[in-house]
Amino acid sequence: LSGRLNEVFQNLRRRGKLTEADVDAALREVRMALLEADVNYGVVKDFIARVRERAVGAEVSRALNPAQQVIKIVHEELLNTLGPADRLNLSGPRPRVMMMVGLQGSGKTTAAAKIARLLRSQGERVLLVAADPYRPAAIKQLQTLGERVGVPVFTEDGKLPPEVVQHAFTQAEKGGVTVMIVDTAGRSQLDQQLMDELRAIARKVTIAETLLVVDSMIGQEAVHIATGFRDSVSLSGLVLTKMDGDARGGASISIRSVTGVPIKFLGTGEGIEALEAYDPARLAGRILGMGDVLGLIEKAEAMDQKSAQEQAERMMSGHFTLEDFANQLRQLRKMGPLHQILEMLPGNMGQMARQVDPRDAERQLKVTEAILSSMTQQERNNPDVLNASRRRRIARGSGTDVQDVNRLLKQFREMQRVFKTLQKTGGRGMSRLFG
Ligand code: GDP
Ligand code: MG
Repeated sequence: LSGRLNEVFQNLRRRGKLTEADVDAALREVRMALLEADVNYGVVKDFIARVRERAVGAEVSRALNPAQQVIKIVHEELLNTLGPADRLNLSGPRPRVMMMVGLQGSGKTTAAAKIARLLRSQGERVLLVAADPYRPAAIKQLQTLGERVGVPVFTEDGKLPPEVVQHAFTQAEKGGVTVMIVDTAGRSQLDQQLMDELRAIARKVTIAETLLVVDSMIGQEAVHIATGFRDSVSLSGLVLTKMDGDARGGASISIRSVTGVPIKFLGTGEGIEALEAYDPARLAGRILGMGDVLGLIEKAEAMDQKSAQEQAERMMSGHFTLEDFANQLRQLRKMGPLHQILEMLPGNMGQMARQVDPRDAERQLKVTEAILSSMTQQERNNPDVLNASRRRRIARGSGTDVQDVNRLLKQFREMQRVFKTLQKTGGRGMSRLFG
C-alpha cells in the first residue's frame, strides 16, 4: 500500500494544477492500492467517496499545492477512519480485569505479556492468568513470558477457564493485585463453544477491558473475525499484532471501520518490548508510507519564514557559507528530534534518510555542531583561511580529530558544488530530490 500511494502522489506532485479528472485519476489509484492491501470493499468505497467529496471543489489553500491538498484530505480521512487515540480503562474497583480474546496464533499470549510489562512499569501490581487449560504448552509459554517481564502467573490444573479466572480473582484481591490480565484460549476458527466460554468468564468477574487481538497479516478475513467476536462478547479495544510484517495497515482500516471498536495497541515484533500505544497520526503515516508529510509542512511553516527565504536565496546564488550552514542546523534543531525529522521527509529523500541509522546521524550532527561552534565567525564566513594550524586548533576546541574537520570542509565544498548545479538547472534538481 505505501509504495503504491507514494507512486500516485509522485505523479500528482509533478502537476501544477489539479482538475476534477486529476482527483478521480488519483483516487482510482488510491482505491486500487487499498483493495490490493486487502481493505474491505465497502470500507474502501465509503472512504473514496468521502475524500472525493472534499477534494473536488475544495477551497485551495495558499500554503499547499494541489497535490499536497489531496494528500492532506486522504490523510485526514484516514485519521477519521482509524479513530482517535484511546487509553486502557484503568478505572473501577481493583483488581481491574483485562481479558485477551482472539483466534489461536493471533498473538494473545504475547500481547498479554507485553501489556503486563507496560502496566508494571507504570507502577501497577499485575497478575497474569492462564485461562487456556487445554494446551499445556500454552501455560508454559505464559509462564516463561511472565518470568521474563517479572510478573507472576496464576495457573490451575484440571479446572475450566471460568473457574480458574474466579479463583485467580479471589487470590488477586487478597494479594493487592491492581490489574489482572487473563489470557484465554483461542480456536483456529470462530466457534460457539469459544464464545460461550468467554461469556461464562465475563459472568464470573467484572471485566474492565475485553481486548480483541488480531493478526494484521490476515487481511479481509480480519473483518469477519472481528465482527464474529463483537457479536458474541462486548469488545472494548483492539490490539493489532504483527504490524512489523508486510501488510502494514489494510486490516486495521477495515476492522476499526466495520466494528467501531477503538484500536488501543499495536504489536510490532516478537520481542516483549515491541508494543506501541496506538497513535492515529503515526499509524496513518505508516499506512500512507510517506511519513508525517503534513507535520513537516506545518513545522516548516512555523520556522522563521523570512530567514529561511533569505537562506534559500543565498544557497541558490552560490554564496553559501559555513555560517549559513550553522544557521540551518539551528533551524533544523528547532523542528524536533533528528530521527523524527528524518522520518518525515517525503519521497526519495525520505527513502534515503530512512536507511540512515538515526543514532549515527545524531552523532554525526553533534560532531558537526561542535566543529562549527569552535570556529570564529570569520572562519565560518570564509573557510579558505582554514590552514593546518587553524584546523588543529578547531579539532582540539571541539574535541574531535583533524580528519573530522577535514571531512566537514570537504562535505561543505561538495554542498556548494551541488547548489551551484541546482541553480543552473533552475531548481528542477531540487524538486527531483524531494519528489
Ligand atoms: P496466541 O495463540 O494468540 O496466544 O499467539 P501467541 O502470542 O502465542 O503468538 C503466536 C506467534 O506470533 C508467536 O510466534 C509470537 O512470537 C508471534 N507474534 C506475536 N505478536 C507478534 C508481533 O507483533 N510481531 C511478530 N512478528 N510476531 C508476533
Ligand atoms: Mg496463547
